[in-house]
Amino acid sequence: MRISKRIKNVPASTIMELLTYSAEAKKSGKKVYHLNIGQPDIKTPDGFFDAVKNYKEDVLEYALSEGLPELIEAIQNYYKGYDINFAKDEILIVNGGSEALLFAMLTICNEGDNILVPEPFYSNYNSFANAVGVTIRPVTTYAENGFHLPSKEEIVSRIDKNTTAILLSNPGNPSGVVYTKEEIEMISEIAKENDLWIIADEVYREFVYEGEYTSFGNIKEVEDRVIIVDSVSKRYSACGARIGSIASKNKEVMTELLKLCQARLSVPTLEQVGAIELYKTPTSYLTEVNEEYRERRDVLYNELVKVPGVICKKPTGAFYIMAKLPVKSADDFVKWLLREFEIDGQTVMPCPAEGFYGTEGLGKDEIRLAYVLDKETLADAARILKEGLTEYLKLNK
Ligand SMILES: *Cc1c(COP(=O)(O)O)cnc(C)c1O
Repeated sequence: MRISKRIKNVPASTIMELLTYSAEAKKSGKKVYHLNIGQPDIKTPDGFFDAVKNYKEDVLEYALSEGLPELIEAIQNYYKGYDINFAKDEILIVNGGSEALLFAMLTICNEGDNILVPEPFYSNYNSFANAVGVTIRPVTTYAENGFHLPSKEEIVSRIDKNTTAILLSNPGNPSGVVYTKEEIEMISEIAKENDLWIIADEVYREFVYEGEYTSFGNIKEVEDRVIIVDSVSKRYSACGARIGSIASKNKEVMTELLKLCQARLSVPTLEQVGAIELYKTPTSYLTEVNEEYRERRDVLYNELVKVPGVICKKPTGAFYIMAKLPVKSADDFVKWLLREFEIDGQTVMPCPAEGFYGTEGLGKDEIRLAYVLDKETLADAARILKEGLTEYLKLNK
């Protein structure tokens, strides 16, 4: 029997091996602070659970393939708050931002096409691209300048006749970069001049700590070529709800996307009922959450850069910090933290960053830290990380 080449090309999750190490560390009695995962710890707004509890229908039917009208309307209103105007038929509800990404690629790419993506990038982009027979062409960005984009010429030089789209996460996972208005305009120009789609992954839209934020939804010149990916996962700390959306003013792409939505029938009804309430959460919730994350970022960043040789510009968005360390192998460093290091029976687990790169050999000396622990715990974890790194460097590795 045969296994498809497409799926064979999907890289296996690299974190598995490390999870064995962390399991062993815990078994030996160590406390491990996880800075390696992007699962927020913030409380999901009560409205979600209340709505689910109060659901009164007798039969749990399929929802409409495009999503519950009330949810679409709630998202439409949410976008209006950002001066982004989508009609109801320009928004589809999907199973998380993940399904939005997969459906977008399936809809706009042929096998053999390629997509430009600034690297480091969210590693699942690779999995989805491989699964649909598309190649990711990385556009490398660097820790030294906070992972901002290279020049227009450099990006354009990566385009060829099989390039269909530019995909980017803004704010960025794993880099924490928030692109400037100029960068968003530059990408828009490139897309227009080279007839490309823009897949704008804006699931971290509210997680911006300094400076202004520009959504691709606000760039009129490219409104017919922008596909916006969104999700309640990070915004409302509701990763398990699996509710996302895909929005575009391009009628043709929406018509084609709807076919995929119809084929998979629907998105869970109860989660949509809950998500309607999430999108009605007062904006003060998001402001408070934003403040909390900003403080956490500062705690972690301030400890990290105390270690000489660490290269890291203070990130301004999402809830991640990427740092370049003066080590040969970040993977080895993380294993050492788990196996050989402890302070008072505690250690930390960062995520080695190699898996976020498409270019062979890059990211080997980098880690990503997710600040998804409460401030006090994070302060401990940050101190342990700093001490650990200092000791590891003394071992001359
Ligand atoms: C978490 C994440 C997603 C998708 O999350 P869902 O839970 O599927 O909505 C998409 N893009 C980025 C950059 C993410 O970090």
